Amino acid sequence: MSVKLDETHDPAVTSWLTCANDANSDFPIQNLPFGVFRKRGSDAAARVGVAIGSYVLDVAAIGAGRVFEGAAAAAAAACNAPSVNGLMELGRSHWSALRLGLSRLLRSASPMRHRVPPEALVRIDDAELFLPAFIGDYSDFFASIHHATNAGRLFRPDNPLLPNYKHVPIAYHGRASSIVVSGTPVIRPRGQTRLPDEAGPSFGASQRLDYELELGVFIGSGNALGKPISLADAQDHVFGLCLVNDWSARDIQSWEYQPLGPFLGKSFATSISPWVVTLDALMPFRRSAYARPPGDPAPLPYLDNHADRASGGIDIALSVKLSSQTMRSQRIAPHTLAQTSSQYLYWTIFQMVAHHTVNGCNLRPGDLIATGTLSGPERTACGSLLEMSVNASHSFALPSGETRTFLEDGDEVLFHGRCSREGYRSIGFGECRGVVVPAN
Ligand code: CA
Repeated sequence: MSVKLDETHDPAVTSWLTCANDANSDFPIQNLPFGVFRKRGSDAAARVGVAIGSYVLDVAAIGAGRVFEGAAAAAAAACNAPSVNGLMELGRSHWSALRLGLSRLLRSASPMRHRVPPEALVRIDDAELFLPAFIGDYSDFFASIHHATNAGRLFRPDNPLLPNYKHVPIAYHGRASSIVVSGTPVIRPRGQTRLPDEAGPSFGASQRLDYELELGVFIGSGNALGKPISLADAQDHVFGLCLVNDWSARDIQSWEYQPLGPFLGKSFATSISPWVVTLDALMPFRRSAYARPPGDPAPLPYLDNHADRASGGIDIALSVKLSSQTMRSQRIAPHTLAQTSSQYLYWTIFQMVAHHTVNGCNLRPGDLIATGTLSGPERTACGSLLEMSVNASHSFALPSGETRTFLEDGDEVLFHGRCSREGYRSIGFGECRGVVVPAN
């Protein structure tokens, strides 16, 4: 079954939860992202909830059978769990049925409104948010051609893109155990480093701590070992997207990464936003895939079809802001460092899924695939400080008068993402934030 536009995307639909009708809300009734929460200070088990305006709807607390029927009821019952994995496993027909049921339940003048008990709505500000899924495996791609070019140029000025880049979606296997939810402090890693002007390696706290602004793709239903997911079927396996900060210690990374790729320079922490925006909710913002310039090779057939070229892209505007400890003490608002877009992906998220499984590798519900740093062509669209500071050769100023090349202790990094299109209600991803704390 395919993802399509339906009444849940109708921009005229409003909610009886009037805070969701605020034009600036990331979570109008057209979004309905999934997360895992409990009321702050309670010792209740965490459960799956849906963000609506400034509230979380405790789906299990409604009582699935009282409000929903059929696939929607089964999907709602799967929300009585401390992770979205059970819902993910059910597949697209169940996800879409629950989305439709929630939209009808929450819309203005819904005859079922009285069936939502007050205790089923918790203010997001009063909720403790957890990782949305149990993440068994995490892989990180390298799919923004501008990031690959910017980063490559630092090391190979005349030949920034390696010859495989336009043929094969490049990725590495990341570390799932150190994925943390937004708001978790990030401890500056220690490790072995060797900068180019140093005679030998030394050990200590990273001096080149960076962020990477990325999107995360949560796999819903998986595939059996040995049974690849075709490009045509890939969207049925994608549950939804979140924001990802692939924190990176550049000095550790540059010394260790050859020949097997990133290891300790990345595996100390990866932050994700708490809300998973479903592929269904993103449907109005689908776009054509990145247009390969004339002369670029066509993808091999398993990575190419008309539908992916026509609508494999998703238009998400992304931003990164920085707030230093000094800025916070002076009550200076977070400073925007860059604004970028998911449209710089040379490979679509569906090509990533098809490629990841083409050798028979199995993906499982809750697996996370990150896109790689989403940089654009301009300095103001860089998704990492490595690119912004040209590997520490340029510093930039903060409104407090401080300067930066890489992150200092106390710096808080904030990512936001939002989708807008004429004729549709804008939706957002909420926030992915993390503050750097000193090395142990
Ligand atoms: Ca990355």
